[in-house]
Amino acid sequence: MKALVYNKDFDGHIDLVDRNKPEIIESKDAIVKVKLSAICTSDLHIKKDFVPRAENNIILGHEFVGEIVAIGKDVKNLSVGDRVCANCETFCGECYFCKRGYINNCINGGWELGCRIDGCQAEYVRVPFADNGLTKLPENVSYENALFVGDILSSGYFGAEMCEIKEGDVVAVIGSGPVGLCAMMCAKYLGAESIVAIDLDDTRLEIAKKERIADYVFNPKNCDIEDEIKKLTQNRGADGVIECAGNTESFEMSWKIARANAIVGVVAMYEEDLKLPLPKMYGKNLTFKTGGVDAVHCEKLVKMIEEKKISTDFLITHKFKLSNIIEAYRIFEEKPQGCLKIAIEFD
Ligand SMILES: [Zn+2]
Ligand SMILES: [Zn+2]
Repeated sequence: MKALVYNKDFDGHIDLVDRNKPEIIESKDAIVKVKLSAICTSDLHIKKDFVPRAENNIILGHEFVGEIVAIGKDVKNLSVGDRVCANCETFCGECYFCKRGYINNCINGGWELGCRIDGCQAEYVRVPFADNGLTKLPENVSYENALFVGDILSSGYFGAEMCEIKEGDVVAVIGSGPVGLCAMMCAKYLGAESIVAIDLDDTRLEIAKKERIADYVFNPKNCDIEDEIKKLTQNRGADGVIECAGNTESFEMSWKIARANAIVGVVAMYEEDLKLPLPKMYGKNLTFKTGGVDAVHCEKLVKMIEEKKISTDFLITHKFKLSNIIEAYRIFEEKPQGCLKIAIEFD
């Protein structure tokens, strides 16, 4: 089968090669025939050598949907022929962390697919602990509908959940890329009265507005964000802030626009250390919650999609065949205006 691999010695660090089809190794494995596979910013991080734990020559990709073609003898809840979406995290379900829902820290898993073990930018992929890592799709949920459930939609939900949103809250989301847009939808679902989208890219803000995901959109290039948020909140500041942008300025903004006693949920992945100026924050009594997604709500998210409470289809702005995946990476890296997510199609 064809597969896209990370190869440190190769020009550009990615290469489309021939690989053997994966086989069942452990009794809880499933083999999935991939139908759609997305390219994630984390794949670019590996490509740029920012992920030291990534194995060389690994097949990339961890965001996908497909059909089960084989299962190990201890897979209980899935059958061959099931249409499924995948969790970006591999987790055993039995360790200290899994039992408490902190699956990102599973001692037998974590971010494995497309990093430590072969991922989904290939025709077939082996999924360990398949009962945990795969979620069955109802008939009226298409592959397109469910592509983002196990990674960016889970991340958006994680960000919104961290903010412990109450009815009537004004929630500000910094960064209107795919994860930010998902966070906005989830914050609304969890009861936020208004959503404020913040981004430096007007095209992204227009999408947030056009899709009716944000109630207010602000570009820091054109206005003072702290002032605008104060105007919307009787001077108190945002009741919850979800930081999805991931740079020094956006982090500084995240605590500045938060009201006293607010929660700042940090979903973003930073490429450098940041300063937490505690003297300046003293008395504001903020709570910061940070980290990589605990993607424990896949079933719930599929149900929300099934009941049409949420839709992420519009995030797929480009589609490519697997044979053109190198070109797809180039475009995703360049991020032309209006490019949100790229889906790789398989026949
Ligand atoms: Zn990802
Ligand atoms: Zn575990």
